[in-house]
Amino acid sequence: MKFTGLTYRPPFEANSLLLQVTRGCSHNSCAFCTMYRDTPFGEETLEQIQRDIDEAAQMNLNTHRAFLVNGDAFCLPANKLARVAEMMGEKLPQIRTIAMYASIRNIQEKTDKELRMLRRLGINELNIGVESGMDDVLDYMNKGYTVAEAKAELLRLKEAGFDYALNIIFGAAGSGRQREHAAQTARLVNDTQPFLIFTGTVHTDPGCPLYDAVQEGSFVECTIGEYLEEEELFIADLDLERCFYFGLHPSNVIQMQGWLPDDKEEMIAAVRKTREDMKRILDKRPIRAGEGAIVAV
Ligand code: SF4
Repeated sequence: MKFTGLTYRPPFEANSLLLQVTRGCSHNSCAFCTMYRDTPFGEETLEQIQRDIDEAAQMNLNTHRAFLVNGDAFCLPANKLARVAEMMGEKLPQIRTIAMYASIRNIQEKTDKELRMLRRLGINELNIGVESGMDDVLDYMNKGYTVAEAKAELLRLKEAGFDYALNIIFGAAGSGRQREHAAQTARLVNDTQPFLIFTGTVHTDPGCPLYDAVQEGSFVECTIGEYLEEEELFIADLDLERCFYFGLHPSNVIQMQGWLPDDKEEMIAAVRKTREDMKRILDKRPIRAGEGAIVAV
C-alpha cells in the first residue's frame, strides 16, 4: 500500500482499511496545523489506487470500514471519488462505509446531486474539522469559511443522507473568551446535529502562524480553569438527539467520552469534579508534549 509523508486518521478509525487517494492537504494553511506542511498536495492516480485496492483484496481484512487518506480526501472531484468507491465495491465488497476527512470547502465544491450519488456509493461518516462557531475565530485560524457557510454546507450534507463527525477546538478563541466560544460553537453543533463530536484543545508546533502568535504573545492560550469552564458550558449548551462525545484527545484537560444526551449530567459532573481536584492550578497554562498532551502546568 502506498502512503506519502505522514498519514493521519481519527483514533476511532484504528481498525479501518486506510487507502491513500490524495497526498497532503489541499488547503494546508490552517493557522494551527503543521500536519502536512512538508507534504505537497497531490491527487493519487486511479491506477495507483487500483493497485492498492488489489493489494488490500489479498489481505484477510477484518473490517467493514475504510478511511480514505490524506488531509481532506473529500476534495477529490465527485466523479473521481465515485470511481474509487466503485473500484472498492468491485474488489472489497465487505467494505460498507467509506469515511474520510472533509472540509467545508470540499462540500461547497459539490452539487446536491453529486453528494447524493456519493452517499449511495457507500461514502459516509465524514470527519470535518469545523473547529469553532465564531466567525472571527474561523477567520483568525484561516479556515476559509464562515459559520453561516459551515452550517449551510453541513445541512446540505445531512439532506443528502450523510452522517458526519465534527472536530471542535476548545480555547480556539483564546483566553478570556471561553464563554462566548462555548455558546456559539454549541449553537453550530446543535443546528447541524453530528453523530459524533471530537474535542481537543489549542496546541501548536513550530512552523505554523498560531505557534508564532503564542510565542510573541498576540494569542494567549486559555488557562486550565478556562478550558474546563469552556468544556462544561459547551456540554451544558448541547441539545442533541443522539451523538457520541469523543473527548479522548491527548490535548484535553479531562479525558472523557459518552453518549449525548444520556450521559450529559454525568459528564458535566466529571468536569466539575476535575475543576475541584485541580483548584490549585486552575490559573496555570498547560505545558505540552507530542499531540498537545498536557504533561505539566
Ligand atoms: S487542519 Fe485539516 S484542513 Fe486545515 S491545514 Fe490541517 S489538514 Fe488541512
